[in-house]
Amino acid sequence: MRVFLVNPSETAYGIAVITPRWLFVLAAATPGRFGDPILVDETLDPFDLTRIAPGDVVGIGVHTGNALRGYMIGNAARAAGATVVFGGIHATLFPEEVRARGGAHAVVRGDGDQVWGQALDDCAAGTLKPQYEGGKVDGDSFVPARWDLMPEGKYMWASVQTVRGCPKHCSFCSVWRTDGQEPRMRTVDAVINEIVQLRRKGFRFIALADDNFYPVALKDLEQADRREDKTRLHELQELRAERFDLMARMAKLPGDSIFFTQITMEAAEDPEFLDAMRKANIKGALVGVEAVTPEGLKHIYKDFNLVGEALAERLRTFKEHGVHVLGSFIFGLPSDRPQTFDATAELAERAGITFAQFVMLTPFPGTLDFDKWEKSHGDTPPTVDGIPLTRHWLIPIAKRPKYYMPHPTMTPDEVRQRTQAVWDRFYSLPVVWKRSQVARGIKSRIAFVLISKLYRQMYANTGIATDSARQSRANRTARLILKPLQRLFVGRPLPDLQVPAA
Ligand code: SF4
Repeated sequence: MRVFLVNPSETAYGIAVITPRWLFVLAAATPGRFGDPILVDETLDPFDLTRIAPGDVVGIGVHTGNALRGYMIGNAARAAGATVVFGGIHATLFPEEVRARGGAHAVVRGDGDQVWGQALDDCAAGTLKPQYEGGKVDGDSFVPARWDLMPEGKYMWASVQTVRGCPKHCSFCSVWRTDGQEPRMRTVDAVINEIVQLRRKGFRFIALADDNFYPVALKDLEQADRREDKTRLHELQELRAERFDLMARMAKLPGDSIFFTQITMEAAEDPEFLDAMRKANIKGALVGVEAVTPEGLKHIYKDFNLVGEALAERLRTFKEHGVHVLGSFIFGLPSDRPQTFDATAELAERAGITFAQFVMLTPFPGTLDFDKWEKSHGDTPPTVDGIPLTRHWLIPIAKRPKYYMPHPTMTPDEVRQRTQAVWDRFYSLPVVWKRSQVARGIKSRIAFVLISKLYRQMYANTGIATDSARQSRANRTARLILKPLQRLFVGRPLPDLQVPAA
């Protein structure tokens, strides 16, 4: 019984920026008696479906963005006589859809770390169940990835997870509802061992693929301290201490390591935490700024963020502590007006943000926004080719709208065009070259320019452009940039590197 694990993608670039971690984790969760699974990452190359034979098991992980391609593969695999098992966030949310549209024999919901092996055993025994509940496993039970199965020279950044879950509750985000609000941390040893393994293989750049690397803010501690019962306070203090332990161990890794993570803006109020990040070589972080107006923040339940000059100053604090910010902004909130776009671009420049992404508010399943939006359409949502708009991921990509949320004053096209203009402004060549001063030496500056250009091509041009010529040009450019860029990111393998002592 051969086991395939497939990461579906409509577009293959030959080289990918970040390793799809789940593939390598589920490879490790595959019991040894089934042999090494065959890993297929379609962001590298399209899956040759003729490889599937009767008796194979094909595991397909889907999020909403790649569900349609996943369904196409699932149906082909089923027709070829394979057993098809779906997992991932989208399959967790829509098990019935995955069965009906993707040819699934079974669906694994929640974390696959433990339950995937059970599904395979049942499959081998001929007792496969239609559904497996993986739930939310403890941090101690997260499976380390099988990096020995990673193809050489195909990825720029590796990825390691240190924590799942986020205590916040942003309305556009599904993480806190699917991964839970209680942070589940891996042990420091488990994380460090994986990083050492990756450095031995020559990866110097590693993304910490966490929902929120800063799960305990100072404000949370203050609130818990106000309670008479100090149990919660002690729990939070323990979680915070574990973060510092991890960063202290990371600081003992080779000094040329570079980590990137995802945190909330509250971390800027916590200089002790930021300094520990700098010492741990966490040089960059995605920070969800989302909106620059109080009304916008209120709308998305993120009013713990700041606005105006205080916001710019808060963002600059990260840089002052050696942490570069990839600021994430959302456009299309009901309170947005034409001037919001320029104000956001100006804020991003003034705050010294190193990279930025400007996304259009999209109702993704699993979020509060989606629930509200779906309900607003009642039983008769508009359709495209007979597919309700409230199932937008099932609409063929060429016909899929770019923007779904009705706006009180702007048309969808106006929101899209203004969003595109902000991307163009932030990533214009002279502006990027000026920002590249953050990198030392000409080689690093060129890498900075290329990665900026790549980010813009992969995200803005392929994601929000409606013009198909522009999209395919963007894909070609991305492919051209990826190859030289991958070489710039490669590090020297350190086969003798030892795990630093605690
Ligand atoms: S957007 Fe970020 S802070 Fe908000 S719930 Fe999601 S992971 Fe947490």
